[in-house]
Parts: sequence; C-alpha cells; structure tokens
Amino acid sequence: MQLAYEVLDQILLTLWHVLPWLAGLSLAFAVLSRWSPCNEGRPWWEKRGLVTDLCYWVLAPIFTRYLRIWVTVALTMVLFGITDGQEIANFYENGHGPLSQLPLWAQGILYLVLTDFALYWIHRGFHRGFLWKYHAVHHASEDLEWTSAARFHPVNLALGTGLVDIVMLLCGVSPWIFVVIGPFNTISSCLVHANLNWTFGPLRYVVSSPVFHRWHHVADVRDKNFSGTFALWDVMFGTFHMPAHELPRNYGIADKQMPEGLVPQLLYPIMQREPVEQAA
Ligand SMILES: [Zn+2]
Ligand SMILES: [Zn+2]
Repeated sequence: MQLAYEVLDQILLTLWHVLPWLAGLSLAFAVLSRWSPCNEGRPWWEKRGLVTDLCYWVLAPIFTRYLRIWVTVALTMVLFGITDGQEIANFYENGHGPLSQLPLWAQGILYLVLTDFALYWIHRGFHRGFLWKYHAVHHASEDLEWTSAARFHPVNLALGTGLVDIVMLLCGVSPWIFVVIGPFNTISSCLVHANLNWTFGPLRYVVSSPVFHRWHHVADVRDKNFSGTFALWDVMFGTFHMPAHELPRNYGIADKQMPEGLVPQLLYPIMQREPVEQAA
C-alpha cells in the first residue's frame, strides 16, 4: 500500500513538472511544424504512437530521478566513505574538488562538451549487439515527432544520460548547472526530433538540427548521425550524413514485431533471446 502511494505521488509530482513543458512544446511545435515541416502529413497530435510517447514522458523522469539519487548515494559511500544522508547532501550541494572551483558557466560548458562526446560513443554502442534491442524502442516511431524525444528504455537511460550525469556529479560539478542544462536538454532533444526542415545552414556541421537527427531515424540509413547536441562528433569520426537537397523520410526499424504501448515495449527487449536485427 505504501509503495502504491509512493508511486502515485511520484506520478503526480512528475505530471506537475512535465505538463507545463508539454503544453509549451505542444504549441511551439504545432506552429513551427505547420510553418516549415520536414514531412507533409498529419499534425503531431494525430501521429501513431502518441500515447506511448506520452507515457515515456512520465516514466523517464521518475526512473532517472531515482536512479541518479540511489546510484550517486551508493557510490559516494563506496568512493568517498560518507555514509550520513545529510553529509552526502552537503557534499554535493555546490559540487566538490577542483571542478567546483570553476565558474558555473565554465562547468556548464565543460559538462555539455564532455557528456555529449561520451554520449556519442555510448549511442554508437547501443547500435551494436545486444544493446540494440533496448535502443530499438527509441527508433520504433514510424511517425517521428518531438514527442519521441522521451521514448527511451530504462536500460538505455541508465547507461546513457543517467550514467554521464552520475559520473559528472561524482567528478565534482555543481548540481546547480542542471538548472540551465536540464531545460536546454529538454528543448534541444525535442527540437531535433521535431517535424521541421531546419538544417541550421553552415552550422549543420557543428550543431545537431532536426534534419540531421531525423536522418538518424530513417529505416534504411544505418549508423549515421549519432551526435546529441554537437554534430561535430559525426564529422570528426566519419558518421555524418546530410545529403544536399534531400529530406529524410520513412522512419522506424526493420523489426515489425516491436509492440506498441509502454509496458509491452519495456518487456520486449528483455524477452528477446537474440539481438533483434538493426534497421538495414
Ligand atoms: Zn540511435
Ligand atoms: Zn532520436
């Protein structure tokens, strides 16, 4: 019973935080996608998989919040020998060690560049072997939209954004940088999934754009455009793909057995014996 209340409490708390974001983003992308769509068709609220996407908008923040707290506390006990809850909170309040001595803006930039570099390689890893079946959940959207930005399996979250956040906190960056980085990540990840024909012109080789990331989701384009924020990593490591005068279309994965709905998708990768085949 206690657990049920806790779960309900977390869902309500998350909705309280997420709903204003969803309202703002809904309106912004409704207008922008009508003005400069990448692919003609129905508006985002009529796309297939919308309900599944919205469920991930509630699940992902709850999972990430618990993961970040539990793993950080456990590792703090092991690595720094601090066991008292209040002392752990004090230890992280403004960061610790040399990194926390830098100005907050410098910590923010360092965080953005280092984690984006790490996430580029983690993302490449998720397109290989047994990890692909967890990441395939993110690629399953056939009507790719800004709402797909939250669609990640917990295993993908834990070994992706969750992992890099925890490592950076353990290294000493101030949690205050998340006040700016958190909203930035939400907006930029929704933007790159949005149905927009934006390429960012000459900046396309440096910053990820909607067209850049939508190419990553094209069913028959393989192992291209892994970068999160900085497309520069793909240019540097030979995985950049943005054909001139052409827009991406036909999204999804080769595995048509992938179910729709939150719970079936959470279970599907775990039930697979063999890695499901990557979209080819
Ligand atoms: Zn991917
Ligand atoms: Zn994506």
